[in-house]
Amino acid sequence: MIKKAFKLVAVLFLMQLFISAGFAPNYSNCKGEANAGGEKSHLIKDGKGLKMDEKVAKSDEEWKKVLTAEQFEVARKKGTEPPFSGKYNNFKEKGVFLCVCCGNELFGSETKYDSGSGWPSFMDELSQGAVRLHADNSHGMVRVEVLCGRCDAHLGHVFDDGPPPLGKRFCINSLSLKFDKRD
Ligand SMILES: [Zn+2]
Repeated sequence: MIKKAFKLVAVLFLMQLFISAGFAPNYSNCKGEANAGGEKSHLIKDGKGLKMDEKVAKSDEEWKKVLTAEQFEVARKKGTEPPFSGKYNNFKEKGVFLCVCCGNELFGSETKYDSGSGWPSFMDELSQGAVRLHADNSHGMVRVEVLCGRCDAHLGHVFDDGPPPLGKRFCINSLSLKFDKRD
């Protein structure tokens, strides 16, 4: 209780700072920028009435309420599930893989293939803009990070060793996905 009250005071204090510093007190943009690395996005309190092309930005506390600890660690904190551990690694049902955070449609089962890497692998995104790519130079490697195009959830990485014709391997954590079965 005390911790919560303290946080509230801290937030109010920060808002006061913004306003007194002459920034437009547009709360949704401040919040979005803090969560999405400077990109413009809207603060959405819940998924109701949300268009699929609208950005979703929530605080860590809000994400923790809708994700398991493992999902939060991977999708919001850029963690990686151990290889061969994910529930979609050897998964062959027909349907669409959605973002575990916001439900954005990311990958179709028809582009899923067995790369042998230990993580679900896809040849392409479901539609253009479903995912967003971002240079990732962490851990002493040069990689391209794959993020949800809608809520910036960390999904995995994309490599150039995939099958033809595209030659792409979207290497995705099961923990960042949920599945919608379709015929
Ligand atoms: Zn998402």
